[in-house]
Amino acid sequence: MKDGIRVVIIGGVACGPKAASRLKRLVPNADVTMIERDCLVSYGACGLPHYVGDVFPDVVVLYSKERK
Ligand SMILES: Cc1cc2nc3c(=O)[nH]c(=O)nc-3n(C[C@H](O)[C@H](O)[C@H](O)COP(=O)(O)OP(=O)(O)OC[C@H]3O[C@@H](n4cnc5c(N)ncnc54)[C@H](O)[C@@H]3O)c2cc1C
Repeated sequence: MKDGIRVVIIGGVACGPKAASRLKRLVPNADVTMIERDCLVSYGACGLPHYVGDVFPDVVVLYSKERK
């Protein structure tokens, strides 16, 4: 892959952000745009049943966290 590449990623839940961050690591100068049609990005869809089932009240719990 060459520097200066422009990439548009459709979908922002699991694979989209993963692909975007991996691409930026491989090609730091890449111009990466991620498009998500919903209002939430990068969340754990696997936890949705817990949110729907009121195991936790705030959907923010589903978001991925910054690595410390
Ligand atoms: C209830 C539940 C439990 C799960 N449990 C597990 C588990 O235990 N273990 C496991 O490994 N996996 C589990 N999964 C599956 C895991 O969540 C999925 O594999 C993962 O979410 C897939 O991510 P993805 O980014 O490929 O697709 P998705 O999560 O489907 O995300 C695709 C995104 O693309 C967006 N999009 C689509 N078309 C367009 C468009 N034209 N323009 C803009 N945006 C668009 C959609 O809005 C969506 O947000 C579970 C999923 C669910 C729903």
